Amino acid sequence: MILSREGKNIISHIGYFLLKSLLLIAFGVISHHAIAQTSTLERPNVIIINADDIGYGDLSSYGATKVRTPNIDKIAEQGISFTDAHSASAVCSPSRYGLMTGQYPARQEHLWGPLMLKEPLSIDTDQMTIARLMKEAGYKTAIIGKWHLGFGRREELLDWNKPLKPGPLELGFDYYYGVPVLNSHPPFVYVENHHVVGLVPEDPLVYGKMSTAREFDEKFELDAIGGGEAAHALYKDREIGTNLKNRAINWIRENREGPFFLYFATTNIHHPFTPAPQFIASSDAGPYGDSIHELDWMVGEITKALEEEGLVDNTLLIFTSDNGGMFNRGGQTAWEAGHRLNGKLLGMKFGAWEGGHRVPFIVRWPGVAPAGKKSDELISNVDMLATLADIVARDLLDDEGPDSVNMINAFKGIEGDKPIRESLVISPFQKTHLTIRSGKWVYIGAQDEGGFGGTRIGQHMFAGAAAVGFTSQENSDIENGKIRAGAPPAQLYNLENDPYQTTNVYNHFPDVVRQMKALIEETMRDS
Ligand code: CA
Repeated sequence: MILSREGKNIISHIGYFLLKSLLLIAFGVISHHAIAQTSTLERPNVIIINADDIGYGDLSSYGATKVRTPNIDKIAEQGISFTDAHSASAVCSPSRYGLMTGQYPARQEHLWGPLMLKEPLSIDTDQMTIARLMKEAGYKTAIIGKWHLGFGRREELLDWNKPLKPGPLELGFDYYYGVPVLNSHPPFVYVENHHVVGLVPEDPLVYGKMSTAREFDEKFELDAIGGGEAAHALYKDREIGTNLKNRAINWIRENREGPFFLYFATTNIHHPFTPAPQFIASSDAGPYGDSIHELDWMVGEITKALEEEGLVDNTLLIFTSDNGGMFNRGGQTAWEAGHRLNGKLLGMKFGAWEGGHRVPFIVRWPGVAPAGKKSDELISNVDMLATLADIVARDLLDDEGPDSVNMINAFKGIEGDKPIRESLVISPFQKTHLTIRSGKWVYIGAQDEGGFGGTRIGQHMFAGAAAVGFTSQENSDIENGKIRAGAPPAQLYNLENDPYQTTNVYNHFPDVVRQMKALIEETMRDS
């Protein structure tokens, strides 16, 4: 049903769906009835729930036992759970860039770490995004929650007292409400559309001043901003989850006539782990687990609202995460209680090992996605652009989502003879550790996981070889929590035989290493 990519430059976007239908009728490909049916299926409402730092082992439907996620599990029972889904990066901002643009963040020279207080918008305003795609297809579009992709132009220092643009509204969202950077980093305020909520001219936000909103550990003011007391007062850590959930539900109800596209980006379960009081000590995994319980409740409230509005059958609902679980102090406490953030996978958030970027990915699409199915198709959040383009019958131009692969067949539960994706590039924190998957092989360009640098238990950024020493996981490069002398210079794993990356086979398969290196170079040269 898809016209060739070669033909896409010729056809104007406007009226494309109509034209495509007429062509298909002309060639006798589908009947009128099929068009009516297809258009219903192809124009569902779409909700993407992008949780923050939910690891592969953080949901009960993915094997967790110290936390309970009945609402998310129910979505899994009603749809497809992917077991080989990856965020484009093991780091928040680049992962979100990949989701938004369908482009590998590694193509952006400076997009390896998380964006902070003063960073400009990291996406060009003329770039295709999932929001622009849906808006141009006639959808109402909103982002509610954590943005974390910057505001303003590169050449100007961002002034939080002025309209915050360009930002999400200049990339195709009709509406934005949420936490502008992240919940552990200032400004600790909400932004609605272009403005900080509650900010008054008499009390502007001022760089360099400390804010008063520092109730919790693990809130860092690497670049401080203070003032704006009324705006700061509206932001209460233990109310964020409830507030964002309420805003999302209100927006869904206001737009029930559809079609709508909601990108709901929670601050759960990023530290400092501040769920509402009713969730404190509700899990068996400390504040980390309690934060998962709040997330599950938020998801349940949203699905309940969809039921009340009669929107379940015509809504494609996706639940995923921006990166794997982090072994911060909350993560360590959870681990000591027996919770396995990333299941048995090796590695953590920010890192190149599987735990850093293999994440839960659940698709509920009644009548389209088979209920209760598990799929081992290799997919990524970078694939959302091409998949949504298929759903709204829009062909992408060459420079639109160049790294995005149409996963519609995977969403429909169709299993082909070959994987849909031939390869997938994944960014960890360190450029040197750029990672590529191809079939059963994964290649990492250097030693260790290339993520956080903490070396001792109790440190916020505990990770890498030292953390593997602590968790007693096995890896052939690591001895006593250190990379052993004589370990290969880079890493190759056969995930089919060795899903937990116990054995680096770099020295055993020099041809595969050469091919994987060449594949990275070739992929990153093309765009
Ligand atoms: Ca994250």
